[in-house]
Amino acid sequence: MAGSPQIKFTALGGAGEIGANCYYLNIDGTGILLDSGQHPRKTGLASLPDFSIIENADLDFVIISHAHQDHIAALPFLIKRFPYLKIIATPQTKQIAFLTLHNAVSIVKEQLKDDEELAAFDHEEVELLVRTIETLRVGEVMELAGYNHRSRHPVLLEFFEAGHILGSCSVSLDYKGVKTFYTGDINLSSQRIQAGAVLPKFKVDNLILESTNGSQASQTLAGWETESARFASSINEISVNGGSILIPVFALGKFQEILGELAWLMKKRKIPVLPIYSGGLSEKITRLYDGNRYISNFNDPDFELREIPREDLYKVNSFEELFRTPSIVLASSGMMIAGTYSFNLAKFWLRKGKGAIFTVGYMDPESPGYLIANSKKGDKIQFFEGGEEYTVACEIRKFRFSAHSSGDELIKVAEKLRPGNVFLIHGDDDSINYSASRIRRTVPAAKIFVPEKGREIILNA
Ligand SMILES: [Zn+2]
Ligand SMILES: [Zn+2]
Repeated sequence: MAGSPQIKFTALGGAGEIGANCYYLNIDGTGILLDSGQHPRKTGLASLPDFSIIENADLDFVIISHAHQDHIAALPFLIKRFPYLKIIATPQTKQIAFLTLHNAVSIVKEQLKDDEELAAFDHEEVELLVRTIETLRVGEVMELAGYNHRSRHPVLLEFFEAGHILGSCSVSLDYKGVKTFYTGDINLSSQRIQAGAVLPKFKVDNLILESTNGSQASQTLAGWETESARFASSINEISVNGGSILIPVFALGKFQEILGELAWLMKKRKIPVLPIYSGGLSEKITRLYDGNRYISNFNDPDFELREIPREDLYKVNSFEELFRTPSIVLASSGMMIAGTYSFNLAKFWLRKGKGAIFTVGYMDPESPGYLIANSKKGDKIQFFEGGEEYTVACEIRKFRFSAHSSGDELIKVAEKLRPGNVFLIHGDDDSINYSASRIRRTVPAAKIFVPEKGREIILNA
């Protein structure tokens, strides 16, 4: 179309994988980054988006869809390199960022102590960074025009509820009526606390669609209530035998949902009232869930997580104490990454005949969590070559309380938004290829792009 605005798209990370999610858009001279994530399993430069790709590009704004590590944790490195960037997020994401980025300071410092390519950041830098985040609420509109913007029409930015975690949003960018929509991490279905996503009513020209659950196996994930019933019966089985259950969870999102789920099951008398152990960052974030409950997209704003009694995991003298009576332990990291609390607990749990490890979410195929989740009683597992060998003595049960849309729902997003172009990101090759083949059938008018890191795609809408 003559006179249409030029839009360029480049992935800096998060193409063909879930990791350092970061996407660059150039809309008629205005440079916008969508997210600035860090790969949860990698360290150093390899864990970051490839910022060298945008070294000489127009660069004005970075919009953060939500505060999960794979969407925000590279922000301090980005701002060190491009200090003039304006950061935009929801007020809740800003509050969470304050906690998680401060929490990351000492971890990153330790990881980078022998790294010559990359310098760590300190608390002062985090303080300044978080203070400069501009907030935009769902339903409000912000006008964006970068330094080299080529017309008098601004880009209109609006957030939509993404239904994923506290503060999560999808991002709509409207320029001269051409609409680009980035889902971020999106869930159309309700979880225990978080209500489902709210999609825009308008037709979208460019859809940047996450594909976490796009693989053939994840097309029809069991619904929350089905998983809840299976979860309850497993808890009963283990606790009746005098065992304790370890549930590795992300501190942000999964912890609060599983805590809410346990409270709900206890209240409905579907499981006995058992001691729940937790602590650390998860608890700090939980206070933000409670504090924001009336202004968030929650199923029951009157429900407060602080009502649920729990014990401080960090005050336990020895892990043996956790087996004195049947109990439930919620610990981070979610994928039992080596060196984290849940990893250390898991190594103890694996040898406990009466115990059980329940996994409840996505595991990176190369994480210790994946190895544990896919093992069973009697298996021999080893976390590192030449490392200690563990014979799995405890029960291992796998549940999927997904914070992401099922594959079927991803197709629904594409059908509802009727996009002209679809960019499939944030998923492994299987998920992206399978989603592509389904969208090709259900939305035949859409042109499908499978972005590769660093390859620019030019769209003349
Ligand atoms: Zn997420
Ligand atoms: Zn993500």
